[in-house]
Amino acid sequence: MALSCKLDQERTEGKTVGFVPTMGALHSGHEALLDLCKKENPVSVCSIFVNPAQFNNTSDYSLYPKTIEKDMACLLDAGCDILFMPEKEEMYGDGYAPKHYDLGHLETILEGQHRPGHFQGVCQAVDRLLTIVVPQTLYLGQKDYQQCMVIKKLLTLTGREHIKIQIVPTKREESGLAMSSRNLRLNPEQRKKAVVLYETLSFFKANMDTMPVTYLKQKGMDFLKSSGFSVDYVEIADVSDLSIVTEIGSKKVVALIAASLSDVRLIDNMLLN
Ligand code: AMP
Repeated sequence: MALSCKLDQERTEGKTVGFVPTMGALHSGHEALLDLCKKENPVSVCSIFVNPAQFNNTSDYSLYPKTIEKDMACLLDAGCDILFMPEKEEMYGDGYAPKHYDLGHLETILEGQHRPGHFQGVCQAVDRLLTIVVPQTLYLGQKDYQQCMVIKKLLTLTGREHIKIQIVPTKREESGLAMSSRNLRLNPEQRKKAVVLYETLSFFKANMDTMPVTYLKQKGMDFLKSSGFSVDYVEIADVSDLSIVTEIGSKKVVALIAASLSDVRLIDNMLLN
């Protein structure tokens, strides 16, 4: 039975469908999303699709880790009801016409600025996946803070405000390193160095009341560079719209970092207050 028929049937029986979209190489961060999804829905769907449309760098795409056997075992273990693993043709095959999504300033700042076309690609894939899965709730990770905002915007742009978004806090290694599929591309020495992203964010949180934003950001740059990272950005932004702040005052803010060690690009963020 095709996935959409099976899910139609479940919905007719009054069951809610929760959806966890991923690119595979699953880790405990993905599992945390799935755990909440399972808790809240009788039907949990996880997708694995390494979406070519969202990679602005071809080697990043071809080197993206693939651990399908392990992923399947992990999903079975976690009690995921349905794994959806579409081929590129099913997503973008005959008759597919890519849309342009008006994402406003989200597309020109932070990840949008440093990865041209990335969020259009994310929207293309998520739009297609939502059309097929038609979930009641979508489970996303805070790890990709800006992506969560983009997907919220996508729901508005495509008339899907009825879909609830649940944002799950970032799962970290004991060292503080945010779990990420890309961590598989780090050797043990690089993995140790990568903790500097978390340390920098923690430094911001500990010192935001006493140190000015420009000083914090400069310190952050220094920490990252002295650990061998090349830095795309270190920013402190308003949680509600990601506008960059120069003074914190009473604003609720999030610190965000994107930096590469060798050719492995990592991102992380932390709510500061
Ligand atoms: P990805 O497979 O990296 O595209 O991620 C799929 C989903 O898992 C996205 O909603 C991510 O934000 C989320 N995710 C990735 N890493 C983590 C993490 N360390 N903690 C929580 N969620 C995560």
